[in-house]
Amino acid sequence: MIDRSAHMAVIGAGPVGLAVAKALLENGIPYEQLEGDDDLGGNWYHGVYETAHIISSRKTTEYADFPMPADFPDFPSAQQMLEYLNSYAETFRLREHIQFKTKVVMCLPSRQMGAPLDARENGQPASPSSWGSDKTLDVGRWTLDSQRRWEVELADGEKRIYKGVIVCSGHHWDKRFPTYPGEFTGDYIHSKDYKNPQQLIGKRVLVIGGGNSACDVASEAARVGRSSDLSLRRGYWFLPKVLFGVPIPELVPSWVPVWVQRVFLKLALRIAVGKYEDYGLPKPTHRIFEAHPTLNSEILHYVKHGRIRPRPDVAKFEGRRVVFKDGSSDEFDMVVCGTGFNLSFPFLPNGLVPVEGKNALLYAGCTLPDYKNLYIVGTPQVRYGFGPLITPAAALLCRLISLQDQMELPIGLVLKESGAKLPTTHLVDPHKALRQMRYAKYTLPLLLRKERKLRRRLASRQESDGSRQMSGNTAGDLQRVSHELKIF
Ligand SMILES: Cc1cc2nc3c(=O)[nH]c(=O)nc-3n(C[C@H](O)[C@H](O)[C@H](O)COP(=O)(O)OP(=O)(O)OC[C@H]3O[C@@H](n4cnc5c(N)ncnc54)[C@H](O)[C@@H]3O)c2cc1C
Repeated sequence: MIDRSAHMAVIGAGPVGLAVAKALLENGIPYEQLEGDDDLGGNWYHGVYETAHIISSRKTTEYADFPMPADFPDFPSAQQMLEYLNSYAETFRLREHIQFKTKVVMCLPSRQMGAPLDARENGQPASPSSWGSDKTLDVGRWTLDSQRRWEVELADGEKRIYKGVIVCSGHHWDKRFPTYPGEFTGDYIHSKDYKNPQQLIGKRVLVIGGGNSACDVASEAARVGRSSDLSLRRGYWFLPKVLFGVPIPELVPSWVPVWVQRVFLKLALRIAVGKYEDYGLPKPTHRIFEAHPTLNSEILHYVKHGRIRPRPDVAKFEGRRVVFKDGSSDEFDMVVCGTGFNLSFPFLPNGLVPVEGKNALLYAGCTLPDYKNLYIVGTPQVRYGFGPLITPAAALLCRLISLQDQMELPIGLVLKESGAKLPTTHLVDPHKALRQMRYAKYTLPLLLRKERKLRRRLASRQESDGSRQMSGNTAGDLQRVSHELKIF
Protein backbone atom coordinates (compact mmCIF):
# COMPACT_ATOMS: atom_id res chain seq x y z
CA MET A 1 0.00 0.00 0.00
CA ILE A 2 1.52 3.30 -1.09
CA ASP A 3 1.03 5.97 1.55
CA ARG A 4 -0.26 9.21 0.04
CA SER A 5 -2.18 10.13 3.13
CA ALA A 6 -1.00 13.72 3.12
CA HIS A 7 -2.96 14.17 -0.11
CA MET A 8 -6.54 14.21 -1.29
CA ALA A 9 -7.22 12.15 -4.42
CA VAL A 10 -9.24 13.94 -7.09
CA ILE A 11 -10.82 11.43 -9.46
CA GLY A 12 -11.27 12.85 -12.96
CA ALA A 13 -9.75 15.75 -14.91
CA GLY A 14 -12.83 16.93 -16.79
CA PRO A 15 -14.17 20.49 -16.40
CA VAL A 16 -15.31 19.81 -12.82
CA GLY A 17 -12.12 18.07 -11.70
CA LEU A 18 -10.02 20.87 -13.17
CA ALA A 19 -11.94 23.57 -11.30
CA VAL A 20 -11.65 21.58 -8.08
CA ALA A 21 -7.91 21.11 -8.65
CA LYS A 22 -7.41 24.83 -9.15
CA ALA A 23 -9.26 25.63 -5.93
CA LEU A 24 -7.26 23.03 -3.98
CA LEU A 25 -3.99 24.50 -5.28
CA GLU A 26 -5.08 28.02 -4.38
CA ASN A 27 -6.06 26.92 -0.90
CA GLY A 28 -2.85 25.00 -0.30
CA ILE A 29 -4.63 21.65 0.04
CA PRO A 30 -2.28 18.90 -1.21
CA TYR A 31 -3.84 16.63 -3.80
CA GLU A 32 -3.16 14.23 -6.65
CA GLN A 33 -5.46 14.12 -9.65
CA LEU A 34 -6.13 10.67 -11.08
CA GLU A 35 -7.44 10.58 -14.64
CA GLY A 36 -8.29 7.35 -16.43
CA ASP A 37 -7.81 8.82 -19.90
CA ASP A 38 -4.54 9.91 -21.53
CA ASP A 39 -5.41 13.61 -21.52
CA LEU A 40 -7.61 16.15 -19.75
CA GLY A 41 -10.97 17.61 -20.70
CA GLY A 42 -13.37 14.76 -19.89
CA ASN A 43 -16.35 14.81 -22.22
CA TRP A 44 -14.77 17.56 -24.30
CA TYR A 45 -11.78 15.32 -24.93
CA HIS A 46 -13.34 11.93 -25.47
CA GLY A 47 -17.07 12.10 -24.93
CA VAL A 48 -18.85 14.26 -27.49
CA TYR A 49 -19.34 13.97 -31.24
CA GLU A 50 -16.99 15.85 -33.55
CA THR A 51 -19.65 18.33 -34.63
CA ALA A 52 -20.94 19.19 -31.14
CA HIS A 53 -21.27 22.81 -30.07
CA ILE A 54 -22.24 23.72 -26.54
CA ILE A 55 -25.89 24.43 -25.96
CA SER A 56 -25.17 26.61 -22.96
CA SER A 57 -23.66 29.84 -24.24
CA ARG A 58 -20.04 30.96 -23.90
CA LYS A 59 -20.83 33.38 -21.05
CA THR A 60 -22.93 30.87 -19.12
CA THR A 61 -20.32 28.11 -19.54
CA GLU A 62 -16.96 29.78 -18.94
CA TYR A 63 -15.37 29.49 -15.50
CA ALA A 64 -16.24 32.52 -13.40
CA ASP A 65 -12.53 33.35 -13.07
CA PHE A 66 -11.34 32.51 -16.59
CA PRO A 67 -13.25 34.06 -19.49
CA MET A 68 -13.30 32.26 -22.83
CA PRO A 69 -11.35 34.07 -25.58
CA ALA A 70 -13.26 37.05 -26.93
CA ASP A 71 -13.04 35.68 -30.48
CA PHE A 72 -14.94 32.52 -29.53
CA PRO A 73 -18.51 32.45 -30.87
CA ASP A 74 -21.53 32.47 -28.59
CA PHE A 75 -21.72 28.67 -28.89
CA PRO A 76 -18.17 27.29 -29.13
CA SER A 77 -17.44 23.92 -30.74
CA ALA A 78 -16.20 20.84 -28.91
CA GLN A 79 -12.69 21.58 -30.24
CA GLN A 80 -12.82 25.13 -28.89
CA MET A 81 -14.06 23.83 -25.53
CA LEU A 82 -11.09 21.48 -25.34
CA GLU A 83 -8.71 24.29 -26.32
CA TYR A 84 -10.23 26.42 -23.55
CA LEU A 85 -9.91 23.68 -20.92
CA ASN A 86 -6.29 23.08 -21.90
CA SER A 87 -5.56 26.77 -21.64
CA TYR A 88 -7.20 26.81 -18.16
CA ALA A 89 -5.00 23.90 -17.08
CA GLU A 90 -1.83 25.52 -18.49
CA THR A 91 -2.57 28.92 -16.95
CA PHE A 92 -3.10 27.53 -13.47
CA ARG A 93 -0.41 24.81 -13.77
CA LEU A 94 -2.84 21.98 -13.18
CA ARG A 95 -1.35 19.50 -15.64
CA GLU A 96 1.71 18.73 -13.54
CA HIS A 97 -0.54 17.38 -10.76
CA ILE A 98 -2.51 15.06 -13.05
CA GLN A 99 -1.61 11.39 -13.34
CA PHE A 100 -2.98 10.24 -16.70
CA LYS A 101 -3.95 6.67 -17.60
CA THR A 102 -4.64 6.20 -13.91
CA LYS A 103 -8.08 4.70 -13.64
CA VAL A 104 -9.51 4.24 -10.17
CA VAL A 105 -11.32 0.94 -9.81
CA MET A 106 -12.08 0.99 -6.12
CA CYS A 107 -12.28 3.40 -3.20
CA LEU A 108 -12.93 2.13 0.30
CA PRO A 109 -12.85 3.64 3.74
CA SER A 110 -9.48 2.69 5.13
CA ARG A 111 -9.23 0.23 8.00
CA GLN A 112 -6.83 0.77 10.86
CA MET A 113 -3.52 -0.32 9.40
CA GLY A 114 -3.00 -3.97 10.32
CA ALA A 115 -6.27 -4.11 12.22
CA PRO A 116 -7.80 -7.52 12.83
CA LEU A 117 -10.76 -8.36 10.65
CA ASP A 118 -13.57 -10.73 11.35
CA ALA A 119 -13.72 -14.42 10.47
CA ARG A 120 -15.03 -13.80 6.97
CA GLU A 121 -11.63 -12.37 6.09
CA ASN A 122 -9.75 -15.24 7.82
CA GLY A 123 -8.00 -12.74 10.03
CA GLN A 124 -6.01 -11.39 7.09
CA PRO A 125 -6.09 -7.73 6.24
CA ALA A 126 -8.57 -7.56 3.38
CA SER A 127 -7.62 -5.98 0.11
CA PRO A 128 -10.18 -3.60 -1.36
CA SER A 129 -10.71 -6.14 -4.12
CA SER A 130 -12.16 -8.50 -1.52
CA TRP A 131 -15.35 -6.50 -1.21
CA GLY A 132 -17.38 -9.23 -2.84
CA SER A 133 -19.20 -9.51 -6.12
CA ASP A 134 -22.24 -7.54 -4.93
CA LYS A 135 -19.92 -4.67 -3.92
CA THR A 136 -21.68 -4.16 -0.62
CA LEU A 137 -19.83 -2.56 2.22
CA ASP A 138 -20.24 -3.46 5.85
CA VAL A 139 -18.12 -0.97 7.74
CA GLY A 140 -19.25 -2.42 11.02
CA ARG A 141 -16.91 -5.38 10.65
CA TRP A 142 -13.78 -3.32 10.49
CA THR A 143 -11.73 -1.46 13.00
CA LEU A 144 -11.81 1.85 11.30
CA ASP A 145 -8.83 4.00 10.55
CA SER A 146 -8.97 6.70 13.20
CA GLN A 147 -7.94 9.31 10.62
CA ARG A 148 -10.76 8.21 8.31
CA ARG A 149 -8.49 7.87 5.31
CA TRP A 150 -9.44 6.15 2.05
CA GLU A 151 -7.93 3.22 0.20
CA VAL A 152 -7.78 3.65 -3.54
CA GLU A 153 -7.11 0.81 -5.96
CA LEU A 154 -6.01 1.54 -9.52
CA ALA A 155 -6.68 -0.46 -12.68
CA ASP A 156 -3.10 -1.78 -12.68
CA GLY A 157 -3.64 -3.21 -9.20
CA GLU A 158 -1.66 -0.55 -7.34
CA LYS A 159 -3.14 0.37 -3.96
CA ARG A 160 -2.74 3.71 -2.31
CA ILE A 161 -3.96 5.34 0.84
CA TYR A 162 -5.20 8.93 0.63
CA LYS A 163 -6.41 11.40 3.21
CA GLY A 164 -9.68 11.58 1.31
CA VAL A 165 -11.29 11.34 -2.09
CA ILE A 166 -12.98 13.98 -4.24
CA VAL A 167 -15.04 12.30 -6.94
CA CYS A 168 -15.32 14.32 -10.17
CA SER A 169 -15.96 11.41 -12.52
CA GLY A 170 -18.84 13.00 -14.46
CA HIS A 171 -22.35 11.80 -15.15
CA HIS A 172 -22.51 11.59 -18.92
CA TRP A 173 -20.91 8.22 -19.58
CA ASP A 174 -23.08 5.39 -18.14
CA LYS A 175 -25.42 4.90 -21.11
CA ARG A 176 -29.09 4.34 -20.41
CA PHE A 177 -30.94 2.28 -23.01
CA PRO A 178 -34.72 1.97 -23.30
CA THR A 179 -36.30 -1.47 -23.25
CA TYR A 180 -38.84 -2.50 -25.87
CA PRO A 181 -40.24 -5.88 -26.85
CA GLY A 182 -38.52 -7.59 -29.78
CA GLU A 183 -35.13 -7.06 -31.30
CA PHE A 184 -33.80 -4.46 -33.71
CA THR A 185 -31.39 -6.09 -36.16
CA GLY A 186 -29.89 -2.94 -37.72
CA ASP A 187 -27.25 -0.74 -36.05
CA TYR A 188 -28.39 -0.04 -32.50
CA ILE A 189 -26.30 2.57 -30.70
CA HIS A 190 -26.45 5.10 -27.88
CA SER A 191 -25.97 8.81 -28.65
CA LYS A 192 -22.69 8.50 -26.71
CA ASP A 193 -21.46 6.13 -29.46
CA TYR A 194 -22.26 8.65 -32.17
CA LYS A 195 -18.97 10.33 -33.07
CA ASN A 196 -19.28 11.81 -36.57
CA PRO A 197 -21.75 12.24 -39.47
CA GLN A 198 -20.05 9.45 -41.49
CA GLN A 199 -21.92 7.00 -39.26
CA LEU A 200 -25.25 8.33 -40.60
CA ILE A 201 -24.57 8.85 -44.30
CA GLY A 202 -27.23 7.30 -46.52
CA LYS A 203 -28.99 5.59 -43.60
CA ARG A 204 -32.61 5.54 -42.50
CA VAL A 205 -32.10 6.78 -38.96
CA LEU A 206 -34.50 6.66 -36.04
CA VAL A 207 -33.49 8.71 -33.00
CA ILE A 208 -35.24 7.92 -29.72
CA GLY A 209 -35.55 10.79 -27.22
CA GLY A 210 -35.97 14.56 -27.30
CA GLY A 211 -32.96 15.76 -25.30
CA ASN A 212 -30.03 17.77 -26.58
CA SER A 213 -27.91 14.92 -27.96
CA ALA A 214 -30.95 13.23 -29.54
CA CYS A 215 -31.91 16.42 -31.36
CA ASP A 216 -28.34 17.05 -32.52
CA VAL A 217 -28.14 13.53 -34.01
CA ALA A 218 -31.60 13.78 -35.61
CA SER A 219 -30.61 17.11 -37.22
CA GLU A 220 -27.33 15.63 -38.46
CA ALA A 221 -29.24 12.65 -39.91
CA ALA A 222 -31.60 15.13 -41.60
CA ARG A 223 -28.56 16.57 -43.40
CA VAL A 224 -26.62 13.45 -44.35
CA GLY A 225 -28.91 10.47 -43.79
CA ARG A 226 -31.46 8.95 -46.15
CA SER A 227 -34.16 9.84 -43.64
CA SER A 228 -34.41 11.07 -40.07
CA ASP A 229 -37.23 10.14 -37.69
CA LEU A 230 -37.51 11.31 -34.09
CA SER A 231 -39.46 9.20 -31.61
CA LEU A 232 -40.82 11.13 -28.62
CA ARG A 233 -42.52 9.58 -25.62
CA ARG A 234 -43.73 12.96 -24.35
CA GLY A 235 -43.75 16.64 -25.22
CA TYR A 236 -40.57 18.72 -24.95
CA TRP A 237 -39.87 22.42 -24.78
CA PHE A 238 -37.62 22.87 -27.81
CA LEU A 239 -36.00 26.24 -27.22
CA PRO A 240 -34.09 27.96 -30.02
CA LYS A 241 -30.48 28.66 -29.06
CA VAL A 242 -30.92 32.34 -29.90
CA LEU A 243 -33.93 34.61 -29.39
CA PHE A 244 -33.98 38.30 -30.38
CA GLY A 245 -30.30 37.93 -31.33
CA VAL A 246 -29.27 36.88 -27.81
CA PRO A 247 -28.26 33.36 -26.67
CA ILE A 248 -31.28 32.13 -24.78
CA PRO A 249 -29.38 31.27 -21.58
CA GLU A 250 -28.34 34.94 -21.38
CA LEU A 251 -31.73 36.39 -22.21
CA VAL A 252 -33.08 36.76 -18.69
CA PRO A 253 -31.04 38.44 -15.92
CA SER A 254 -30.13 36.17 -13.01
CA TRP A 255 -32.18 38.07 -10.43
CA VAL A 256 -35.46 37.41 -12.24
CA PRO A 257 -37.56 34.78 -10.38
CA VAL A 258 -38.06 31.48 -12.21
CA TRP A 259 -41.81 31.95 -12.55
CA VAL A 260 -41.25 35.26 -14.37
CA GLN A 261 -38.66 33.56 -16.60
CA ARG A 262 -41.25 30.89 -17.42
CA VAL A 263 -43.96 33.42 -18.31
CA PHE A 264 -41.54 35.44 -20.42
CA LEU A 265 -40.15 32.42 -22.28
CA LYS A 266 -43.58 30.96 -22.92
CA LEU A 267 -44.73 34.22 -24.43
CA ALA A 268 -41.54 34.66 -26.47
CA LEU A 269 -41.81 31.08 -27.77
CA ARG A 270 -45.41 31.52 -28.75
CA ILE A 271 -44.37 34.55 -30.85
CA ALA A 272 -41.16 33.10 -32.31
CA VAL A 273 -42.15 29.44 -32.66
CA GLY A 274 -45.92 29.07 -32.31
CA LYS A 275 -47.51 25.86 -31.03
CA TYR A 276 -45.52 22.63 -31.06
CA GLU A 277 -48.68 20.83 -32.24
CA ASP A 278 -48.38 22.82 -35.48
CA TYR A 279 -45.14 20.94 -36.13
CA GLY A 280 -46.75 17.56 -35.43
CA LEU A 281 -44.95 17.43 -32.08
CA PRO A 282 -46.63 16.54 -28.78
CA LYS A 283 -47.51 19.42 -26.48
CA PRO A 284 -45.25 19.56 -23.39
CA THR A 285 -47.11 18.46 -20.28
CA HIS A 286 -44.51 19.88 -17.89
CA ARG A 287 -43.54 23.48 -17.22
CA ILE A 288 -40.38 24.97 -18.77
CA PHE A 289 -37.33 24.04 -16.61
CA GLU A 290 -39.13 21.16 -14.87
CA ALA A 291 -37.03 18.93 -17.11
CA HIS A 292 -33.59 19.71 -18.55
CA PRO A 293 -34.40 22.06 -21.47
CA THR A 294 -33.60 21.11 -25.06
CA LEU A 295 -31.83 23.97 -26.80
CA ASN A 296 -31.84 23.37 -30.51
CA SER A 297 -32.54 25.75 -33.37
CA GLU A 298 -32.53 23.07 -36.07
CA ILE A 299 -35.13 20.57 -35.03
CA LEU A 300 -38.21 22.67 -35.78
CA HIS A 301 -36.61 23.92 -39.00
CA TYR A 302 -36.02 20.36 -40.27
CA VAL A 303 -39.48 19.20 -39.14
CA LYS A 304 -41.05 21.98 -41.23
CA HIS A 305 -38.83 20.99 -44.19
CA GLY A 306 -39.97 17.39 -43.92
CA ARG A 307 -36.40 16.27 -43.20
CA ILE A 308 -37.27 15.11 -39.67
CA ARG A 309 -40.43 13.12 -39.11
CA PRO A 310 -41.82 13.21 -35.54
CA ARG A 311 -42.97 9.77 -34.34
CA PRO A 312 -44.58 8.62 -31.11
CA ASP A 313 -43.01 6.19 -28.62
CA VAL A 314 -41.76 2.84 -29.90
CA ALA A 315 -44.11 -0.12 -29.25
CA LYS A 316 -41.80 -2.91 -30.45
CA PHE A 317 -38.97 -3.97 -32.73
CA GLU A 318 -39.38 -6.59 -35.46
CA GLY A 319 -35.99 -7.02 -37.09
CA ARG A 320 -35.34 -3.81 -39.06
CA ARG A 321 -38.97 -2.75 -38.64
CA VAL A 322 -39.97 -0.46 -35.78
CA VAL A 323 -43.62 -0.40 -34.75
CA PHE A 324 -44.77 2.78 -33.02
CA LYS A 325 -47.46 3.19 -30.40
CA ASP A 326 -49.87 4.79 -32.91
CA GLY A 327 -49.76 1.55 -34.93
CA SER A 328 -47.57 2.98 -37.72
CA SER A 329 -44.32 1.23 -38.61
CA ASP A 330 -41.23 1.68 -40.79
CA GLU A 331 -37.92 0.06 -41.57
CA PHE A 332 -34.70 1.65 -40.36
CA ASP A 333 -30.98 1.00 -40.78
CA MET A 334 -29.97 2.57 -37.50
CA VAL A 335 -31.56 3.35 -34.15
CA VAL A 336 -29.81 5.94 -31.99
CA CYS A 337 -30.91 5.98 -28.35
CA GLY A 338 -30.65 9.54 -27.05
CA THR A 339 -32.09 8.32 -23.79
CA GLY A 340 -29.63 9.76 -21.34
CA PHE A 341 -27.35 8.38 -18.69
CA ASN A 342 -27.44 6.71 -15.32
CA LEU A 343 -25.65 8.34 -12.44
CA SER A 344 -23.21 5.78 -11.11
CA PHE A 345 -19.95 5.37 -9.24
CA PRO A 346 -18.55 1.96 -10.18
CA PHE A 347 -15.47 2.41 -7.99
CA LEU A 348 -17.51 2.94 -4.81
CA PRO A 349 -19.42 0.23 -2.94
CA ASN A 350 -23.01 -0.14 -4.08
CA GLY A 351 -25.38 2.13 -2.23
CA LEU A 352 -22.64 4.16 -0.56
CA VAL A 353 -23.87 7.19 -2.47
CA PRO A 354 -27.69 7.02 -2.38
CA VAL A 355 -29.11 7.89 -5.79
CA GLU A 356 -32.81 8.36 -6.60
CA GLY A 357 -33.25 8.46 -10.36
CA LYS A 358 -30.54 10.90 -11.36
CA ASN A 359 -30.52 12.69 -8.02
CA ALA A 360 -27.57 11.99 -5.70
CA LEU A 361 -28.69 12.49 -2.11
CA LEU A 362 -25.81 14.59 -0.83
CA TYR A 363 -25.72 17.32 1.78
CA ALA A 364 -24.37 20.64 0.47
CA GLY A 365 -24.33 18.92 -2.91
CA CYS A 366 -21.22 16.88 -2.09
CA THR A 367 -21.13 15.23 1.37
CA LEU A 368 -22.58 12.13 3.01
CA PRO A 369 -23.55 11.98 6.67
CA ASP A 370 -21.85 8.62 7.24
CA TYR A 371 -18.42 9.20 5.73
CA LYS A 372 -15.64 11.63 6.40
CA ASN A 373 -13.27 12.89 3.70
CA LEU A 374 -15.39 11.76 0.77
CA TYR A 375 -16.77 14.44 -1.52
CA ILE A 376 -18.83 13.79 -4.63
CA VAL A 377 -18.80 16.83 -6.90
CA GLY A 378 -20.68 17.75 -10.07
CA THR A 379 -23.61 15.34 -9.95
CA PRO A 380 -26.42 17.88 -10.43
CA GLN A 381 -27.51 18.87 -13.92
CA VAL A 382 -27.07 22.62 -14.17
CA ARG A 383 -29.60 24.38 -16.35
CA TYR A 384 -26.97 26.19 -18.41
CA GLY A 385 -23.21 25.69 -18.41
CA PHE A 386 -20.86 24.30 -15.75
CA GLY A 387 -18.40 27.20 -15.32
CA PRO A 388 -20.22 29.93 -13.39
CA LEU A 389 -21.28 27.41 -10.73
CA ILE A 390 -18.30 25.11 -10.42
CA THR A 391 -15.88 27.97 -9.70
CA PRO A 392 -17.59 29.12 -6.47
CA ALA A 393 -18.60 25.52 -5.66
CA ALA A 394 -14.96 24.40 -5.76
CA ALA A 395 -13.98 27.28 -3.45
CA LEU A 396 -16.76 26.24 -1.08
CA LEU A 397 -15.57 22.63 -1.22
CA CYS A 398 -12.15 23.77 0.00
CA ARG A 399 -13.81 25.50 2.94
CA LEU A 400 -15.71 22.31 3.75
CA ILE A 401 -12.45 20.34 3.63
CA SER A 402 -10.69 22.71 5.98
CA LEU A 403 -13.69 22.79 8.33
CA GLN A 404 -13.75 18.99 8.28
CA ASP A 405 -10.11 19.04 9.42
CA GLN A 406 -11.27 20.85 12.55
CA MET A 407 -14.11 18.38 13.25
CA GLU A 408 -14.27 14.83 14.47
CA LEU A 409 -17.69 14.00 13.08
CA PRO A 410 -18.37 13.89 9.34
CA ILE A 411 -19.30 17.35 8.08
CA GLY A 412 -22.20 15.76 6.17
CA LEU A 413 -23.66 14.58 9.49
CA VAL A 414 -23.25 18.05 11.00
CA LEU A 415 -24.99 19.57 8.00
CA LYS A 416 -27.80 17.05 8.26
CA GLU A 417 -28.26 17.62 11.98
CA SER A 418 -28.19 21.37 11.38
CA GLY A 419 -31.26 21.04 9.18
CA ALA A 420 -29.66 20.99 5.74
CA LYS A 421 -32.03 19.51 3.18
CA LEU A 422 -31.31 16.84 0.62
CA PRO A 423 -31.94 17.84 -3.00
CA THR A 424 -35.31 16.76 -4.37
CA THR A 425 -34.16 16.95 -8.01
CA HIS A 426 -30.94 16.72 -9.98
CA LEU A 427 -31.89 19.83 -11.94
CA VAL A 428 -30.25 22.96 -10.65
CA ASP A 429 -31.42 26.50 -11.11
CA PRO A 430 -28.02 28.21 -11.45
CA HIS A 431 -29.20 31.52 -10.06
CA LYS A 432 -30.67 29.95 -6.94
CA ALA A 433 -27.55 27.82 -6.44
CA LEU A 434 -25.33 30.90 -6.68
CA ARG A 435 -27.43 32.68 -4.08
CA GLN A 436 -27.19 29.66 -1.76
CA MET A 437 -23.43 29.54 -2.15
CA ARG A 438 -23.08 33.22 -1.34
CA TYR A 439 -25.17 32.68 1.79
CA ALA A 440 -23.15 29.59 2.77
CA LYS A 441 -19.99 31.69 3.04
CA TYR A 442 -21.44 33.30 6.13
CA THR A 443 -23.12 30.26 7.68
CA LEU A 444 -20.40 27.63 7.24
CA PRO A 445 -18.19 28.76 10.14
CA LEU A 446 -21.19 28.18 12.47
CA LEU A 447 -20.86 24.47 11.73
CA LEU A 448 -17.87 24.18 14.06
CA ARG A 449 -20.01 25.14 17.03
CA LYS A 450 -22.78 22.85 15.85
CA GLU A 451 -20.34 19.96 15.60
CA ARG A 452 -19.20 20.45 19.19
CA LYS A 453 -22.82 20.47 20.35
CA LEU A 454 -23.58 17.38 18.30
CA ARG A 455 -20.63 15.52 19.77
CA ARG A 456 -21.85 16.37 23.27
CA ARG A 457 -25.32 15.13 22.34
CA LEU A 458 -23.97 11.88 20.94
CA ALA A 459 -21.83 11.36 24.01
CA SER A 460 -24.72 11.89 26.41
CA ARG A 461 -26.95 9.66 24.30
CA GLN A 462 -24.40 6.90 24.66
CA GLU A 463 -24.22 7.48 28.42
CA SER A 464 -27.98 7.34 28.79
CA ASP A 465 -28.05 4.16 26.73
CA GLY A 466 -26.16 2.69 29.63
CA SER A 467 -23.23 1.73 27.52
CA ARG A 468 -19.65 2.63 28.24
CA GLN A 469 -19.10 6.05 29.82
CA MET A 470 -17.60 8.69 27.59
CA SER A 471 -14.39 9.85 29.19
CA GLY A 472 -14.23 13.10 27.27
CA ASN A 473 -14.17 13.70 23.56
CA THR A 474 -11.25 11.47 22.72
CA ALA A 475 -10.89 10.12 19.24
CA GLY A 476 -11.34 6.58 20.54
CA ASP A 477 -14.62 7.37 22.23
CA LEU A 478 -15.87 9.16 19.17
CA GLN A 479 -14.83 6.25 17.07
CA ARG A 480 -17.03 4.00 19.18
CA VAL A 481 -19.95 6.43 18.91
CA SER A 482 -19.36 6.77 15.21
CA HIS A 483 -19.16 3.04 14.86
CA GLU A 484 -22.51 2.53 16.54
CA LEU A 485 -24.09 5.07 14.26
CA LYS A 486 -22.30 3.47 11.29
CA ILE A 487 -20.47 6.70 10.70
CA PHE A 488 -17.15 6.48 8.98
C1 LIG B 1 -23.21 15.72 -26.18
C2 LIG B 1 -23.01 16.50 -24.92
C3 LIG B 1 -23.19 17.89 -24.94
C4 LIG B 1 -23.00 18.63 -23.80
N1 LIG B 1 -23.19 19.98 -23.83
C5 LIG B 1 -22.95 20.73 -22.75
C6 LIG B 1 -23.07 22.15 -22.78
O1 LIG B 1 -23.46 22.73 -23.77
N2 LIG B 1 -22.79 22.84 -21.67
C7 LIG B 1 -22.39 22.22 -20.51
O2 LIG B 1 -22.12 22.90 -19.53
N3 LIG B 1 -22.30 20.89 -20.46
C8 LIG B 1 -22.56 20.12 -21.52
N4 LIG B 1 -22.43 18.76 -21.46
C9 LIG B 1 -22.17 18.13 -20.17
C10 LIG B 1 -20.71 17.80 -19.93
O3 LIG B 1 -20.69 16.56 -19.34
C11 LIG B 1 -20.10 18.87 -19.04
O4 LIG B 1 -19.84 20.01 -19.84
C12 LIG B 1 -18.76 18.51 -18.42
O5 LIG B 1 -17.99 17.73 -19.29
C13 LIG B 1 -18.93 17.80 -17.09
O6 LIG B 1 -17.65 17.78 -16.49
P1 LIG B 1 -17.21 16.66 -15.47
O7 LIG B 1 -15.80 16.96 -15.13
O8 LIG B 1 -18.22 16.56 -14.38
O9 LIG B 1 -17.36 15.28 -16.24
P2 LIG B 1 -16.59 14.70 -17.50
O10 LIG B 1 -16.41 15.74 -18.53
O11 LIG B 1 -17.32 13.46 -17.88
O12 LIG B 1 -15.14 14.30 -16.92
C14 LIG B 1 -15.00 13.25 -16.00
C15 LIG B 1 -13.57 12.77 -16.07
O13 LIG B 1 -13.38 11.77 -15.07
C16 LIG B 1 -12.64 10.70 -15.62
N5 LIG B 1 -12.97 9.49 -14.87
C17 LIG B 1 -14.19 8.91 -14.74
N6 LIG B 1 -14.11 7.81 -13.98
C18 LIG B 1 -12.81 7.68 -13.61
C19 LIG B 1 -12.10 6.73 -12.84
N7 LIG B 1 -12.71 5.69 -12.29
N8 LIG B 1 -10.77 6.90 -12.66
C20 LIG B 1 -10.13 7.96 -13.21
N9 LIG B 1 -10.75 8.89 -13.97
C21 LIG B 1 -12.07 8.75 -14.17
C22 LIG B 1 -13.08 10.64 -17.07
O14 LIG B 1 -12.11 9.99 -17.88
C23 LIG B 1 -13.23 12.11 -17.39
O15 LIG B 1 -12.04 12.65 -17.90
C24 LIG B 1 -22.62 17.99 -22.59
C25 LIG B 1 -22.44 16.61 -22.57
C26 LIG B 1 -22.64 15.87 -23.71
C27 LIG B 1 -22.47 14.37 -23.64
